[in-house]
This record gives sequence, C-alpha cells and structure tokens, in this order.
Amino acid sequence: MLNKSYFIETFKKLAAMAEENRDHLSKLDSDIGDGDHGINLTIGFREVEKQLPQLSESVTDIAELMKKVGMILLSKVGGASGPLYGSFFMKMATHIIGKQEVTFKEFCQMYQDGVEAVQMRGKAELNDKTMLDALIPGLAILKDYQEGDDPINTLENCVNEMKLGSDKTIPLMAKKGRALRLGERAVGHRDPGSESAWMIMNVFLQQLK
Ligand code: ADP
Ligand code: MG
Ligand code: MG
Repeated sequence: MLNKSYFIETFKKLAAMAEENRDHLSKLDSDIGDGDHGINLTIGFREVEKQLPQLSESVTDIAELMKKVGMILLSKVGGASGPLYGSFFMKMATHIIGKQEVTFKEFCQMYQDGVEAVQMRGKAELNDKTMLDALIPGLAILKDYQEGDDPINTLENCVNEMKLGSDKTIPLMAKKGRALRLGERAVGHRDPGSESAWMIMNVFLQQLK
C-alpha cells in the first residue's frame, strides 16, 4: 500500500531531483528549445516543496494532494511542461477520490490517467519527440501489472522502458513543441521532456524501495 507520506516524501525528492538535474535538462533544451526546461521544473517543484508542510496538514486524502500539486505546477511554471506535468499530477487523482492509501494496481491506474491527461492537453502522439515518447512506453508496462507481480520490479521495468523511449527521440524530427520549427536540425538531439519524464518516475521508484 502507498500512503500519503509515500507521495509527500516523493514530492520532496522530486524537488531535489529537479535541482540536481537542472543544468542537464536545460542543456538538452538549449539544443532544441529555449534552454529553460531544468529551470521550469526547478521553479515548479521548489514551490511544491515549499507548500508541502502546509499541504500535508490540510489535504484529506491522496487525490487532493495530487490535485493540489498539479495546480501548483500549472500555475507556477510558465513553459509547456508546467501545464503538461500539472495535468499529469492533477488527473492522477481521477480514480482515487477519498483514498488514504492506494494499492500498486491503483498507482498504475493513476499513471495511466496522468498520461492520458498529457495526451489530451498536448495533442501529441508517440514519435512526435515529446515527453510522451517516454510516458507511453512506460504505460505499456504498468498496464500489464497483475496482482502478485513485484511492484518494485514492475516500476523498474517501467522506468527502463521510459529511458529507452527517451533514447528513441534522438533521431526524430519534432511534431510538437518548440523543436518543431527546427525541422531536420532537431535530429540528433534528445527531447528534454522525455528525459525529465523518466527521471520523475525514477523518483517514484526510488521512494518505493
Ligand atoms: P517550453 O518549451 O515552453 O520552454 P519546457 O522547456 O519546460 O517548456 O518543456 C519542453 C518540453 O515539453 C519538450 O521537451 C517536450 O517534451 C514537452 N512538450 C512540448 N510540447 C508538448 C506537447 N504538445 N505534448 C507533450 N509534450 C510536449
Ligand atoms: Mg523550454
Ligand atoms: Mg520556455
């Protein structure tokens, strides 16, 4: 079972992860975008961390926590990734309203709801060279999870597939986002959002261990 403190601790670690990888993610974004992806994530998750002590007191359940965190990202982050990751976390709440803890199976559903929200908002598809190129391959693994499977092992496989998905963005031209206008010049560069996507889920994994 994953309880409220699992998610709260994970959000704390996400702030640290964003900080640690800020320059790396911004460097990727400077190759094919405007160079602020790491900064955007740092601004967003730092604000989440700042509000966490108060949030952990006030929210009644995990769904409310996810919604609040999503709203912070949505309102504080200017770039494309703010609304996208904001929707991701907000929509994770869809099927867990009122729950104090969730099973790993329910967590898989949360991830699915989150990915669908990113798809709805960004209107991107697989191979458009976006964060969805990591999110969608990860979803395939979590959809396969069955009662009795090892959650850690499953989430590890998910993160690995996400990494591979991110690798696959390197040879692509972009069909969405800022890199779209670069055409062929985007080829040979990793999509920054696909990198942050697997890194985010890796924090959920590390916190599960
Ligand atoms: P901005 O491009 O506004 O500066 P960021 O640099 O924070 O925002 O985020 C860029 C990332 O957002 C891209 O690398 C890509 O993964 C993701 N992205 C951009 N547009 C879309 C979209 N329509 N659907 C999904 N992801 C997208
Ligand atoms: Mg950017
Ligand atoms: Mg920007």
